[in-house]
Amino acid sequence: MLTVEGLDVDISNIPILRQIQFNLESGEIVGLIGRNGAGKTTLMRSIMGLLAAKSGSIQFDQASLQTLPGHRRAHMGIGYMPEDRRLVPEMTAEQNILLPVWSTDIPEYEDRLQWIYKIIPECMEFRQRAATSLSGGQQKLVALARALMVGQNLLLLDEPTEGIAPVLVQRMCEILADLKKEGVSILIAESNDAHIAELLDRSYVIERGSLANSK
Ligand code: ATP
Repeated sequence: MLTVEGLDVDISNIPILRQIQFNLESGEIVGLIGRNGAGKTTLMRSIMGLLAAKSGSIQFDQASLQTLPGHRRAHMGIGYMPEDRRLVPEMTAEQNILLPVWSTDIPEYEDRLQWIYKIIPECMEFRQRAATSLSGGQQKLVALARALMVGQNLLLLDEPTEGIAPVLVQRMCEILADLKKEGVSILIAESNDAHIAELLDRSYVIERGSLANSK
């Protein structure tokens, strides 16, 4: 489904990712585990087309992602949850969730929104509240819901359990387990697999911009 081969990415002429090689099959939940600064965010941003690859290839369902502009990924069913959430503060939770639908003209989203509210009922409860009035953990749930809105085929989640209260970490893990049961394909970046080990089919370890091993 997603195949990355020989990927090199530089930022400001400094090599950040080197010879990244990995794959993710349909229905799998794969971990990308590495310390702060290891290159997890850079890899996710490269897959999303937010950073240009210096060399190598990123294939998704037989299509080359490198030649596609970033926004086309929504049409391919790829959703991304950045580590820092990036919610629009003056919008409500629901407006934030619907943002990728409006910006990409995806039709008939109502069923999808209702499905998301079934998986994450908290988002239904605070859907009319301004994003700024939500706690950090609640904002993460909104960011996950927004990624799910377009991510029918693949979700890229950057540190979904990082920096939130323990009770919400537990809740986030329950939601991810529900998504696994629904057959959603997910790449999850985390600094360690303490919370998510049970969810993962496999994981890759990233160290200083290279994949060290997989298990
Ligand atoms: P974190 O959890 O801290 O975000 P990470 O594994 O996601 O860690 P990246 O954010 O991908 O790591 O960073 C990988 C490396 O790239 C780090 O050494 C970082 O300093 C460097 N880097 C990232 N963005 C930039 C930038 N805009 N300019 C220069 N170096 C950068």
